[in-house]
Amino acid sequence: MERKITCIICPRGCPMTAVIEGDSVRVSGHSCPKGEEYAIHECKNPVRTVTATVRVDNRRDTMVSVKTENPVPKGSMQEVMAALRKITVQAPIHIGDVVLKDIFGTKIVATKEIL
Ligand code: SF4
Repeated sequence: MERKITCIICPRGCPMTAVIEGDSVRVSGHSCPKGEEYAIHECKNPVRTVTATVRVDNRRDTMVSVKTENPVPKGSMQEVMAALRKITVQAPIHIGDVVLKDIFGTKIVATKEIL
């Protein structure tokens, strides 16, 4: 199987081709080793950082921006978003505060301050 992948590691955005045969991935089109590593990761175990907002319970019409502390499997993003829709937080909130302790092996942390 062949996949076209655009490298997102740096602004150059190299267009790459990954040929997947069993467990092996051959990459072409990359300009540096980071691109090859990214393409292999995208084919074998794609992950994403999820960003979202969570409702602040004790502040009228207020949401706080949050993100996963580490990337999660790409296929789990909908589940992460569903979990975040169910929770609320209490102000004051500081950048880096944990709003959800463990989801797919990582934490959800605040990226905005609400005093
Ligand atoms: S392959 Fe290297 S040079 Fe090309 S976009 Fe990726 S990181 Fe940048």
